[in-house]
Amino acid sequence: MKKLALFLALVLMLGVLDAPATAMEDGAFQGAAKGNNADLVVEVVVEGGAIAAVTVLEHSETPGICDRSLVEIPEAIVAAQGLGVDVLSGATNTGKAILEAAALALEAAGADVEALKAIGTAEVEQKADETIETEVLVIGAGGAGCAAGVQANQLGAKVIIIEKQASVGGNTILSGGALNAVNDRSEQALAYDDSVEWHYTQTMNGGDNQGDPLLVHTLVRNAYAGVEWLQEMGMSFEDDVSGLFTVTGGMWPRAHKPSMPVGTGFFDTYQRYIDGHEGIEIMLNTKAESFITDETGKILGVKATGETGNTITFLASKGVVLASGGFGRNVELRTKYDNKWGCLDETILSTNSAGATGDGIYMAAAVGADLVGMEHIQLLPLGDPASGSLSGNIEHDVERRIFVNKEGNRFVNEGGRRDEMTEALFAQTDSWMWIIMDSDCYPAGDELNNFGEPINQLIAEGRAFKGETLEDLAAAIDVPAENLVASVNAFNEHVASGEKDEFGRTLYSTPIDNGPFYAGPRVPTVHHTMGGVRINTKAEVIDRSGNVIDGLYAAGEVTGGIHGSNRLGGNALTDILVFGRIAGENVAAR
Ligand code: ADP
Repeated sequence: MKKLALFLALVLMLGVLDAPATAMEDGAFQGAAKGNNADLVVEVVVEGGAIAAVTVLEHSETPGICDRSLVEIPEAIVAAQGLGVDVLSGATNTGKAILEAAALALEAAGADVEALKAIGTAEVEQKADETIETEVLVIGAGGAGCAAGVQANQLGAKVIIIEKQASVGGNTILSGGALNAVNDRSEQALAYDDSVEWHYTQTMNGGDNQGDPLLVHTLVRNAYAGVEWLQEMGMSFEDDVSGLFTVTGGMWPRAHKPSMPVGTGFFDTYQRYIDGHEGIEIMLNTKAESFITDETGKILGVKATGETGNTITFLASKGVVLASGGFGRNVELRTKYDNKWGCLDETILSTNSAGATGDGIYMAAAVGADLVGMEHIQLLPLGDPASGSLSGNIEHDVERRIFVNKEGNRFVNEGGRRDEMTEALFAQTDSWMWIIMDSDCYPAGDELNNFGEPINQLIAEGRAFKGETLEDLAAAIDVPAENLVASVNAFNEHVASGEKDEFGRTLYSTPIDNGPFYAGPRVPTVHHTMGGVRINTKAEVIDRSGNVIDGLYAAGEVTGGIHGSNRLGGNALTDILVFGRIAGENVAAR
């Protein structure tokens, strides 16, 4: 089939046939297909019977993750004059939606779409196997890997970061961007009665004191320095505009919010650094497979598979940083270790990137690394009902929203722990809830949610609902109006008194009384795997006998022992930043 496709492409390119294989009408044609979150609309321009241009006109795909697909797949369709082009790993749904929408547009132009599907990306010849030498090799271009790589390079090391997907970002770029960090000396910390010590206490308590106290101290003490480091590299946060906020499950207003949507601000910053400096590069579509060790167990490098299926042997003279993320998308691992939820098979969706398959756990375990807390798997009550993703979530912060079930009743402390909120959600009808808020966060009705999506667009897509009054909103989402009104009124009374309510909630700011009102549906979703490779405060990996594995560092979601049984919201970005930098610093110092 591939040979035939290549032949047809060549025939078209050389103009051997008098008429194109598929007769198309000239003009501009549109097609729409379901993307990850909503319909994606593509326009195809046909000129002289050939595909002259392909453009994605509308989409609601996640920024950062979809960027390359939106550009490269349309270009590939034009270059191949066909629809059989490859989608990009890590963004397969976006790629498929572009191809499907383009097919509908071409069908409208009169094309033989089936014939065009056979014409596509020419087969790529497998490159020769090769050996690449570097000082530091980082596995994974998510938040932890990029922090480690940039930090090591700043200290003079030659760094290569390998990423198995076609784009950087991992779970980090999909997050809402909330980064917990306390500056003890700041007015904000004083205003919110916060401190590094309180951050420590809440992190330990939130994880049932199962986190390693030394690692947690390291986390909270270095958090704010991490924010300053990012700011020095040009990253901006909303702190001056909107202050710190409480992210769901964060328990306290100490989250910094990047100015750019979702996690894109981190990667924009790292990419600018990488583009402007020598001795650091990212190799995409390059998958680490196993560690290379000497007879003493020292890590010498990594065997990887390159973009064309060739083997690349990376030799890292200073060491390797494992930053390959968690295993939220690995059903086998999550069902093997889970001892809490009992329902983590493929029927439950996940917020995670396609890359979160726990590769690093297998690789590290194979060289003797100890694994800690693998049974602690975090679910959020905040998944999109169709995709499980965080996208479409209308809440801005904990204080100004409540959760109600299908009966219109509140059922949990919405300022509490993530595990408790999700357990409570599982007990509701269809494990389904509505986030209810007023117009405080959406005064003009076209503002963005924390994921860069305009609220009016979410409403147009049927992913959020609006009512001039609470009764209108209840009708729109089909919950009993008297219950919804009673729930909101009772909540407002607690906001006024500031007293703890019957669910134990203490985090309030303004009442829900400023119409129009908004509702968004949410379901349980797998979010974060707290367990993983055991590290010490230098981010060195510890083996099953308690010794350091020479030359191996790890940071981020691939590690365990920090968050205990339940991670505070906003602490993951802190973790990857703090321990990524520590790993980078220590490996560079070798
Ligand atoms: P963290 O938050 O710990 O940085 P992320 O999920 O943000 O974790 O990033 C981890 C990155 O590692 C993802 O981009 C993922 O695709 C990548 N990755 C996972 N396994 C491998 C592997 N075997 N080789 C290269 N990259 C990998």
